[in-house]
Amino acid sequence: LDGLNVTIEFGQVTSLHVGAPALSVSTDTGAVLEGDVIIVATGASPRRLGVPGEAEHEHQGVSQCASCDGPLYRGRAVVVVGGGDHAVDAASTLEVAGASVTLVHPSAALDTTSVAARRIETSARIRSMPHSEVVEILGDDSVTAVVVRSVIDGSTRTVETSAVFPAVGFEVQKPPFTSELETGTGGGLAVNPDLATSDSGVFAAGAAREGFGAQWASALGDGAAAAAGALEWWRHHGDETTDGG
Ligand SMILES: Cc1cc2nc3c(=O)[nH]c(=O)nc-3n(C[C@H](O)[C@H](O)[C@H](O)COP(=O)(O)OP(=O)(O)OC[C@H]3O[C@@H](n4cnc5c(N)ncnc54)[C@H](O)[C@@H]3O)c2cc1C
Repeated sequence: LDGLNVTIEFGQVTSLHVGAPALSVSTDTGAVLEGDVIIVATGASPRRLGVPGEAEHEHQGVSQCASCDGPLYRGRAVVVVGGGDHAVDAASTLEVAGASVTLVHPSAALDTTSVAARRIETSARIRSMPHSEVVEILGDDSVTAVVVRSVIDGSTRTVETSAVFPAVGFEVQKPPFTSELETGTGGGLAVNPDLATSDSGVFAAGAAREGFGAQWASALGDGAAAAAGALEWWRHHGDETTDGG
């Protein structure tokens, strides 16, 4: 960034002021930063199952990224937890990587519009366990099995596995300062095709926004798209802001 008129300020953003004439954010270091445009890119974290054995086996068989870790499980049994698009995509990715997949989900049917759903139905290496939930992850140095409970009668059984992929959605890092911005059904900030949020001059990029593509490459593209959208917005509204542009 040498030679560019860019200032980097370190700190946790704690509040966002969206009133006229200028937008501003405040950080936990006490700084108040003004801008004509703000792009929120605060990310998202995979939602945890919150069961015994999950935290203990993080990176020891518990993984949030099927596309990253799938090749490690070629020829081995893995469990994917969840019944939505995220889980269906993870199960399909792992099957393609050569794993045998058990998909544990609480409902009778999968709740998905993913094109990968067809693969779940037809692949001999994906087995669906409906009406079920993982209640414990077992293992020593790495995962060896999960305890699965029936949501119908409460009975439990142990399923041997080398890995568990929780795929129950993401927690968008929606800091309190964005609470007035509209969100989508997935909890991400709602945006239009220019990545503009519901508040004039505020844009969202990456995993913080609704409908994000979940990969680094998508996040990079989003950064560029939000910058382009912001520039376009500023061309039309710049003279309404504090210094007229
Ligand atoms: C375990 C795991 C493995 C992954 N592996 C891959 C992979 O191999 N390939 C791939 O393409 N994708 C992978 N992904 C997905 C990829 O990490 C995300 O798609 C990408 O990081 C999203 O980028 P982002 O900039 O939107 O958010 P992030 O990368 O999460 O960045 C958000 C940033 O905002 C900061 N922040 C949050 N709140 C505030 C605040 N209030 N004030 C200031 N800063 C704040 C955070 O500290 C963070 O630095 C993986 C994800 C996970 C969870």
